[in-house]
Amino acid sequence: MDVSLYTHADMLDHRPGDGHAERPERLQAVIDALDDDPALDLETHEAPMVDMADLALVHPQAFIDGIFAAAPRSGRVALDPDTVLSTGSLGAARRAAGAAVSAVRQVAAGQASRAFCAVRPPGHHAEPGTAMGFCVFSNIAVAARVAQASGLRRVAIIDFDVHHGNGTQAAFEHDPTVFFASIHQSPLYPGTGDPSETGLGNIANATVAPNASPQVWRARFEGLMDRVDAFSPDLILVSAGFDAHVRDPLSAQNLEAEDFAWATRAIVSVANARAKGRIVSSLEGGYDLQALGRSAAAHVSALQEG
Ligand SMILES: [Zn+2]
Repeated sequence: MDVSLYTHADMLDHRPGDGHAERPERLQAVIDALDDDPALDLETHEAPMVDMADLALVHPQAFIDGIFAAAPRSGRVALDPDTVLSTGSLGAARRAAGAAVSAVRQVAAGQASRAFCAVRPPGHHAEPGTAMGFCVFSNIAVAARVAQASGLRRVAIIDFDVHHGNGTQAAFEHDPTVFFASIHQSPLYPGTGDPSETGLGNIANATVAPNASPQVWRARFEGLMDRVDAFSPDLILVSAGFDAHVRDPLSAQNLEAEDFAWATRAIVSVANARAKGRIVSSLEGGYDLQALGRSAAAHVSALQEG
C-alpha cells in the first residue's frame, strides 16, 4: 500500500523556547527516521497552509482571529504556560492543520488510501475555543470535518498519544457522526478522559495507570478497536503520539516501537474491513528524539505493509 507523507520545513520554525519539550528537533528526528528506513517508499507532499474556511469548520471565527492577532512579529507570546508562539508559529500551525486537511482530501478523492502527516505543533489538546498543551489548532478535528464535507460521512479518530485528546473530544462529544477513541495514561495532563466520559455513546476513553505493562496497554487498545469496528467508519484518522514509549520523559509507560507497529496493524485491520483501507495519521506528541523517530518509522512501515 502506498503511503503519502505530508510535511514542510516551515514547521521547524515554530520555536516555543529553549528547554521546551515540543522542539523543532522532534520533527527533524521523524523526517530523518523516515528517510533512513530502507523499507519505506513514501510519496512526499509539501503541506500547504490551511484555509480559514477549513479552520472555521471546528474553531469559532473569534478564536481564529485571536490567534492570528496574537502571533508575534518578534519575540514570543505565551497563549498559556505551555503554549508559546514564536514568529514562525502561525505559519507552522497553519501547515500542521493544512497537512491533515490535504491528506484527507487526497484520500477522499480516491488518489490515495494512506497518509502520514509529520507535523508540529500538535493539535489534540486544542479545543474549539482554546489553544493549550502545545497545541494551537485542532488538526485532526479540522481534518475530520473536511472529510465529512468531502463525502466520507462517518469518521473514527483513534488517539494513542499518552495524553488524553481533550480537544478532539470537545469538538465531537455532541456529534454521533464522529467516533473518538483515546487511550491515555491516568493520572496525567490534561486530567480529562475518564472512561465515564462517553459523549452520545460516540466517545470511548481507555486509561492505563502509570507503569502499566505493554500487555495491559495492548488489551485496552484492543477493546477500543472493537468499538471502532462496530462504528463502521468510512475513514480512520489517527492522532499518532509516541509519548507512551518507555524512553519518553513526559509519561511513565513502557511501550517500544514494536508496540506502535502492533497498534498500527490493528488499526489497518479495521480500516481494511470497514473503511476501504483509508487511514490518515497525524503526528501528536513524543518527546524522546530517538524513541520518536523509531516509533514513527515503525508506525508508517505498518501503514505501508497492510
Ligand atoms: Zn502527548
